Amino acid sequence: MKVIEHLQQRDGTLFSFEILPPLKGKDIHSIYAGIDPLMEFKPSFINVTYHREEVIYKERGQGLLQKIRLRKRPGTVGICAMIKAKYDVDTVPHLICGGFSREDTEDALIELSFLGIDNVLALRGDAVKNEPHFIPERDGHAHAEDLIRQIAGLNRGKYLYEEEQEASPTNLCIGAACYPEKHQEALNLGTDIAYLKRKVEAGADYLVTQMFFDNQRYFDFVERCRKEGIQVPIIPGLKPLTNFRHVAFIPKTFHIDLPDAYARELVKCATDDAVKALGIEWTVAQAKELLAHNVPSLHFYTMGKSEAVKAIASQLF
Ligand code: FAD
Repeated sequence: MKVIEHLQQRDGTLFSFEILPPLKGKDIHSIYAGIDPLMEFKPSFINVTYHREEVIYKERGQGLLQKIRLRKRPGTVGICAMIKAKYDVDTVPHLICGGFSREDTEDALIELSFLGIDNVLALRGDAVKNEPHFIPERDGHAHAEDLIRQIAGLNRGKYLYEEEQEASPTNLCIGAACYPEKHQEALNLGTDIAYLKRKVEAGADYLVTQMFFDNQRYFDFVERCRKEGIQVPIIPGLKPLTNFRHVAFIPKTFHIDLPDAYARELVKCATDDAVKALGIEWTVAQAKELLAHNVPSLHFYTMGKSEAVKAIASQLF
């Protein structure tokens, strides 16, 4: 079932979450371990992230370095198919522009369609580490908007080459990303929202936000989007901070602010356990306020760890 159908038929706020494929070399049991504890809250859909290749350098002796392109977390589509088969839950594979030509994209969409996957989250992806900015593949897409347009086209039966024009259309629900605190490269929130509107006009059925820790940022963002004519559901993304590593890298990596009240309590924490307890308390408070506003779904970023999300969900659902 499509995410947009879940949202249209909902009777109250839904529960959904995002997982990462395991690191190459780990088996599927780490995925079960992430999903099993959250099944009691009846997730409406589960997102699975996509990770493009990274460039790494291996020492080969005598001062020689070998440059290797490596995907550290393959398996997005396989995991989606497994979730549908094992848990009977709808899935949302993420699909990015980076590393994909338009033909690669078309083939990936055909594969999703054959697997009976009804959804896709269409993203640009970030620049490859140690490249200064995002570089699309030759004949690939430079922005999520163009990827969305290709998916929407395929949903109308528009394949890349003439001879396929009579072929069956796909029927994929399209999600896209949005940023209440603006995307890091955007000149300001206004231009970011103008481009966001173009993603919706290109065919995005709904949006999922970057994580945020201050609900007011989300409420203001949704209001501004509505004023600009963006009418699709905007799902809030939540992430509990559960250790000092999170505190160090999450605001920096995702370009988000922690509100003063939260930051004041965080600096008092002396252990990871204290950070985790505070993170759970903060996210529960955020989630309760969002539930009171009847948001479409509470979407949790698990980053492969479900314990804190379970502790939060058990206080909400
Ligand atoms: P775009 O919508 O293309 O926007 C990128 C930037 O370009 C923005 O600053 C925007 O204002 C600007 N822009 C947009 N359209 C245009 C245009 N037509 N012309 C000029 N400028 C434009 N990354 C992964 O690699 N894998 C994942 O699985 C993944 N999942 C994510 C899930 C969510 C919910 C979110 C919020 C992000 C996720 N990301 C993921 C990160 C995402 O790929 C990065 O944030 C990336 O830098 C931007 O992706 P986008 O789809 O928002 O890009």
